[in-house]
Amino acid sequence: MYYGNIKEFSVENGTGVRVSFFVSGCRHGCKNCFSEKTWNFEYGKPYDRAAEDKIMDALKPDYMEGITILGGDPLEPENQAEVLGLIKRIRRELPEKNIWLFTGFVFEELIYDYSVNQKIGISKEVDARNTINFYEPLIKDEKSRANTEYIREILENIDVLIDGEFMEPLKNLNLKFRGSSNQRVIDVRKSLESGQAVTIEEFMN
Ligand code: SF4
Repeated sequence: MYYGNIKEFSVENGTGVRVSFFVSGCRHGCKNCFSEKTWNFEYGKPYDRAAEDKIMDALKPDYMEGITILGGDPLEPENQAEVLGLIKRIRRELPEKNIWLFTGFVFEELIYDYSVNQKIGISKEVDARNTINFYEPLIKDEKSRANTEYIREILENIDVLIDGEFMEPLKNLNLKFRGSSNQRVIDVRKSLESGQAVTIEEFMN
């Protein structure tokens, strides 16, 4: 895995003061993406133990609320093993910190159980989005490339997921933490318990 930046003090990608970790590599190809250079899986520097230690050190002070992992897309399959390794280390060594993650994938395709062809947690909100073909991968029953052996453990160890591709026609500069209104700020624990995406309403206005 490569990464473009570790911002050791950021306030724009989540609540409180946080570390923002920008992973490289993304295949979503959103029109007018805010950072096309991060599509390249070899953009920036190789992620290694020194980078991981830098993140851990930056997270340690009491005033640091947590980390936001973004990109690129941290859930592209090439990135998942190392993202999971980092998340598990944070859970182990700094369990009081919260973990937010931005992805272009949608929650439902990440928890979809393709092995039994069972659709899980398709909410009314997502059904409504079918009119703009937002949810095409599920409708076609094609396995999402992000639905890997690592994905469940990643989801079980993060707090907040901001999901969905950036969609230019739905762009809204007034949204909190999101670029377009199709994207959702999701409470991951509640969503995994209920089997459908549960949004955090205070961030969805
Ligand atoms: S998912 Fe994010 S990084 Fe990837 S193309 Fe879309 S806006 Fe850009």
